[in-house]
Amino acid sequence: MKKLFANLSHSPPASIYIQREFAKQNIKRLFLVSIFSLFMLSTIFFINLYAHTDTTYNFKDYKGYVICYILIIALNIFTLIYAFKHRRKQAISFEQTKKINAIIFLYVWITLLSSCYISNYDQQSHGQIVIYLVYDFLCSCVVIIPLRKTMIPILFCTILLSIAIIFNSNFITSGQFNLILLLLITVLTLSLNYLNYHIMKQHLEQNQRLVEEKQVSKMLTKELRAAAYTDELTNLSNRRGYLHHLDYLQTQLPCKMTVLMIDIDCFKKYNDYYGHAYGDIVLAKVASTLHDLCTGPNRFASRWGGEEFLVLLQNHTKNEVHRFYKQFLNRINSYHIQHVASETADYLTFSIGGNSQTIIHVDDMNTCILHADEAQYMVKHSTKNDFVLMENGKIISMSDSIAQYQ
Ligand code: GH3
Ligand code: MG
Ligand code: MG
Repeated sequence: MKKLFANLSHSPPASIYIQREFAKQNIKRLFLVSIFSLFMLSTIFFINLYAHTDTTYNFKDYKGYVICYILIIALNIFTLIYAFKHRRKQAISFEQTKKINAIIFLYVWITLLSSCYISNYDQQSHGQIVIYLVYDFLCSCVVIIPLRKTMIPILFCTILLSIAIIFNSNFITSGQFNLILLLLITVLTLSLNYLNYHIMKQHLEQNQRLVEEKQVSKMLTKELRAAAYTDELTNLSNRRGYLHHLDYLQTQLPCKMTVLMIDIDCFKKYNDYYGHAYGDIVLAKVASTLHDLCTGPNRFASRWGGEEFLVLLQNHTKNEVHRFYKQFLNRINSYHIQHVASETADYLTFSIGGNSQTIIHVDDMNTCILHADEAQYMVKHSTKNDFVLMENGKIISMSDSIAQYQ
């Protein structure tokens, strides 16, 4: 037992989460304890009052006894009201936890001291110490408190009552039995208190670990998903990201959609001339330009593969599509990216094909992309460095130089 107590005094303090959970549990338990106490105390109090209403009864002799009963009943009424108000609370602040702990601390000390006083009287008059034994049990086993907090009041009151029993006139008759019972019950309740507290603590720690692990795995899943949808080199959405975007698009249907297929001209030659590393920088620059232009819910950009990008412009008019095309070229030209090995110019150029159509079902996107590809093919196999726009697969806008090739 000595070893047990020594270990307990060194047990690490519970985390804030566990303290809060204990406070929540204790509020519910205090509610039940105070109901039980009030029922038990009022019954015993009235039985005693009735038993003492004979002629020999003198209130002065029982003043302390009655005051202790009233104190203990008042305390239980107070805890009952407090616990009733807070028993369904899910979120308990740290301040409230401290308050609940203080109430429990007061409850333990006052009930034990009062019941010790009452039992001393009961021992003298009836040869029993039931009230103290009941509170010994309630304070240490029903309410969840660490042993280091219950041990002092329980040992203090038990020793006090033991001394009183030993020096009592009826020690030889009922006192001896009650003393043994008191010591046995005290050892038992303190052991139960230890087990109760530590089993609950372990259970809550496991719960806390589970909650933390769940949060970490949720975060990791989110990060993994983001990584799976993003192209590593350009940080733009990849094809998987595009498929994920279709889920969002499904909620917007039907809508008018313009698909632009943007392809860098003679990019192989760029790599050959300037080196692959510079090629990567150019791809990142083009991607970041598209990213900046495609903020907002009705625009989306992704790296379709290699040096090809796909842009979705939702509910854009023909003029707005052209404005987007011009904005894109202006921004890219402002970077002055040279490409002396290109067939079209001595700077970086693009072949862009677009198609607009109403999307009723998400599968319509495939046709829309196919037509945008056709438009881009027309540019690629004519002049390059230009833009052809279709609507439902029919050309609605192209430059004269491309028209000559048709
Ligand atoms: P066209 O004008 O007909 O589009 O010719 P192109 O050279 O641009 O197209 P082609 O399909 O012949 O070659 C695409 C080039 O893009 C080949 C490849 O080296 C380059 N490329 C693809 N992905 C990457 C990449 O991640 N980094 C770099 N630096 N180059 C890439
Ligand atoms: Mg190309
Ligand atoms: Mg290409």
